[in-house]
Amino acid sequence: MKPIGVLALQGDFEAHQKALARAGADSVLVRTAAELQNVAGLVIPGGESTTMLKLLRLENLFEPLREFGQQRPIFGTCAGAILLASEVSSPQQESLGLVDMAIERNAYGRQLDSRVVRLAAEDGLTGKELEAVFIRAPIIRRVGETGRVLARYLGDPVLVDFGRHLVATFHPELTPDPTVHRMFVDRVAR
Ligand code: GLN
Repeated sequence: MKPIGVLALQGDFEAHQKALARAGADSVLVRTAAELQNVAGLVIPGGESTTMLKLLRLENLFEPLREFGQQRPIFGTCAGAILLASEVSSPQQESLGLVDMAIERNAYGRQLDSRVVRLAAEDGLTGKELEAVFIRAPIIRRVGETGRVLARYLGDPVLVDFGRHLVATFHPELTPDPTVHRMFVDRVAR
């Protein structure tokens, strides 16, 4: 199988490579459309979605990435989730529109600039408790019919399975538990 790619334009891509290794997967960094052709799935890390968007345009990666996502799985965390969404607010911003959800940037406000919490996971994670790190996280305001919520925080979805794609508003790459990355590795292998 081809390795899993980690988009490495900006953000915490190195932590994702380590997390993928903990989940037993080989990974490579992706910075060009050509490199995208050599991976079986892609992680879009957290960081600053506005900056990533600019870099995607600059590197002519926006369209290739959208086409990639029509065929292959993408796991978007935090800023990566914002880039995957169909609707972005606060402020409104262009996105790949690969998953049917509305997301509001920096929506927890100041009191949740950065926080570690325990999540009670819903079905699909078989009741497992999950430690979650939030960093200036967005809130998912609407999940379309194609999405299945796997975990919530304060009632809002924070981990959603869209069949091919997976999104998290927290940072599973920053905790030792490989559960979430393993979920993504499994779907890439399928
Ligand atoms: N606040 C960032 C944004 O709006 C996301 C933060 C993160 O990825 N940790 O793009």
